[in-house]
Amino acid sequence: MEWLERIARLQRDTAAGDRDPAHALLLLHALGRLHKYGAQPIRFREVEMPLGRLLTEYGPPRPARPGAAFYRLAGGLWDVTAADGSAAPGPDEEALRASDAVGRLAPAFAKELLTDPPLLGQVVRALLDLNFEPSLHAELCAATGVRTDFAHPAAGPGPDQMMAGRQVLVAYACRCAFCGYEGWLGTTVVGVESARLRWRAFDGTDDLTNCLCLCVLHHRLLDRGVVGLTPGGMILVSRHFVGATPTARDQVLALAGRLAIAPQRGFPAPDGRNLDWHARQVFRGPTRPAL
Ligand SMILES: [Zn+2]
Repeated sequence: MEWLERIARLQRDTAAGDRDPAHALLLLHALGRLHKYGAQPIRFREVEMPLGRLLTEYGPPRPARPGAAFYRLAGGLWDVTAADGSAAPGPDEEALRASDAVGRLAPAFAKELLTDPPLLGQVVRALLDLNFEPSLHAELCAATGVRTDFAHPAAGPGPDQMMAGRQVLVAYACRCAFCGYEGWLGTTVVGVESARLRWRAFDGTDDLTNCLCLCVLHHRLLDRGVVGLTPGGMILVSRHFVGATPTARDQVLALAGRLAIAPQRGFPAPDGRNLDWHARQVFRGPTRPAL
């Protein structure tokens, strides 16, 4: 089977639409190391903390289980053993530490990645596209140590996507639905864009039932789960967010409990199912009380 097919088969349960990027994050971390150091084994003791951090920061709002990702990544892409070469003990973190478990990219996979650089780029792209919104791709490359040029999309948005994006901007009069920012350079809007609630990789659409018009700051914070929206239009801010400056207070903390700007009359508001998906899969609860 082709490697890219194997990557695609690792993917989440599409019926439920639940995010499960643990294997993708471990593979990206392993690819970053492969690129830097060649085909070296990776000890669980060394990868547990960075993988746990990646899972917490970029995974859904559930407790991170780095042991499960390390032990269960399969598909012929990854091998795990105890340090002495015997079978690994299972996904329990303590047992993996105790046996000094070691994982490695499957030798045939690592060999092809090292001798075929375009394949490495395709694998990174597939892992990013199948699991994360495009706004997060560059920072994920930096966080996992893979080359950031792999984050550049193979193709820009298609005409349908551009048209849908323009409609979102028109519906909100080119203002950020959270902070009201609006900006122009000549006849071009700057710093405001269409932001999906349900991610594209999880069948999220580009129309107004799934998109908000947001400034680049609030788009990024939406995709990182710092801000969210209730079906009643109230802005949510995660209690995990910390920002001590007056700007952080004005731009983020003060939004908690405020009503977002609604689309102009005649345009649909976001669909409750998409708001619910974002709340369950991305937003980092609990919610912060209003200032
Ligand atoms: Zn904004």
